Amino acid sequence: MKRFFIKTFGCRLNQYQSEKIAEHLSACNLLQVKNPDKADIVIVNGCVVTHKGERDTRKFINKYAKKGKQVVATGCYIKLPYVRASHNVSFLSFNDIKKVFVPQKELLSHQSRHRVLIGIQEGCNFRCSYCIVPFVRGPSKDRNKEDILREIASYTEQGAREIVITGTEIGGYGREQNTNLAKLVREIKDAFPLLKIRLSSLLPLYVTEEVISLFKEGIVLPHIHLPLQSGSRDVLKDMKRPYKLERFIWAFEKLYQSHPNMAIGTDIIVGYPTETEKDFEMTYKLIDKLPFAYAHVFLYSKRPFTQSFHLKELPYKVIKSREKKLLRLVSIKKKRFLQRFIGQYLYGMIEKKENNILKGTTENYIKFIADGRYNFVPGQYVKIKIIGIEHNYAKGVIENLS
Ligand code: SF4
Repeated sequence: MKRFFIKTFGCRLNQYQSEKIAEHLSACNLLQVKNPDKADIVIVNGCVVTHKGERDTRKFINKYAKKGKQVVATGCYIKLPYVRASHNVSFLSFNDIKKVFVPQKELLSHQSRHRVLIGIQEGCNFRCSYCIVPFVRGPSKDRNKEDILREIASYTEQGAREIVITGTEIGGYGREQNTNLAKLVREIKDAFPLLKIRLSSLLPLYVTEEVISLFKEGIVLPHIHLPLQSGSRDVLKDMKRPYKLERFIWAFEKLYQSHPNMAIGTDIIVGYPTETEKDFEMTYKLIDKLPFAYAHVFLYSKRPFTQSFHLKELPYKVIKSREKKLLRLVSIKKKRFLQRFIGQYLYGMIEKKENNILKGTTENYIKFIADGRYNFVPGQYVKIKIIGIEHNYAKGVIENLS
């Protein structure tokens, strides 16, 4: 039996697609291994969103090609016009992989998972000035609704208790099918009433009253990623983001009020070429002011085929010092968010038991640990009382099971 290994770089959509590739290869009688050195085929699902992502993807491909492995590169990386396949590196899209490797048994999820990613669309119709994604993924393409419902049904039969709806820009779902994201989510909930549904990331312009109702009514879990990128009106405009600062703040406040435990995370890019010290201060102040649960900070990365490619970059020292300052604030914010829940009860899913400690994630995306003396099954929902914070985890006491 041939063995394969998958390395995934980048976003949740890539993770989702890697899971699909793994399921497909397993149905082709290939065995997935955790060590690339033990594999016959090394699949590399690359990312090119940042310069670092592209470099790391290339390094990984070259490393295993040099070791004589059969390497299959896939994902955004292979769409770059200046990268080439070689004698032991093939470039295959997921559709090509399906043609090259033909299933010999029924396609079933190869492992039992309790939280699964469900991709509902791919690609983006916007053109943010720094972003290479529309170039490599193309315009937004929806998945057929029936196909999505079928996939969810198959996961629930295998024990999934929670799904995370993912894609490049899920908020735009439905244009081609005369529906929208909120309607799709309601249909999923109607078909699978016990299933917990989490939305991944949503652009502020898609935060409508219809979407807010999903949180208010408890149809989706109280957690969302709302990408900001900059707290400066001018920089947002230069970035050609499809919303204004006022819209972001409105969306944030509405979502925050929609559920008492709401967790809102965000992305920030520091060092965009037109970002002045004053612009950066505006971002800093906004992050400080709004009750974010967490924020991911990225350094601006110049990407080919983007509108900002020709802009003069800021000195690296300046970008790094802004990153450092913001990261300090982000760590305080995260702690503050966790502290809010000390003494409160939350619901969460147990994911694993390690060294007699149970680990899991609450409905509002707090990673928790709890005493593992009891025999809990992974995937079980529990009510926990948060009693403190330990190494970035909320420490909880399990009250009862559901
Ligand atoms: S919304 Fe902007 S940043 Fe997001 S994928 Fe589309 S172009 Fe890129």
